Amino acid sequence: MNDFGQLIIEDCKSGKQKIAHKYQVLIYMLLFPLSPKGKALCQGQTPAGRLVYPDEIVEISPLDVDSEFKDFFLQTVAIISGSTPPPQAPSHWECRYCNVPAAYCPARIELGADTGKHDLF
Ligand code: SF4
Repeated sequence: MNDFGQLIIEDCKSGKQKIAHKYQVLIYMLLFPLSPKGKALCQGQTPAGRLVYPDEIVEISPLDVDSEFKDFFLQTVAIISGSTPPPQAPSHWECRYCNVPAAYCPARIELGADTGKHDLF
């Protein structure tokens, strides 16, 4: 709780800032008040959020859980739970932490894979 009695959902990160971190906390801020414990603690209020990095703290306002974010969240849930699989978008970053073996995921990008010629770098 902060000085105003507002609940704060805090997430500590060890790496660099990523926009995905903010969305992760926004999801917590949206859903926690719906849980039994969250209902008791939040009492109908959206909690604030906070990302704690080794060198910086980023505050997230409850106002960021707005209709635009809720629409985005609902659309994402619809894609995830839909009968049509979403397009694959593998990346080195995600695949290196994933336990799905290449035999079961043809989209997997292995370290050292030939990613083709491009002019990104
Ligand atoms: S290995 Fe396959 S399932 Fe795992 S992150 Fe990569 S693309 Fe996704």
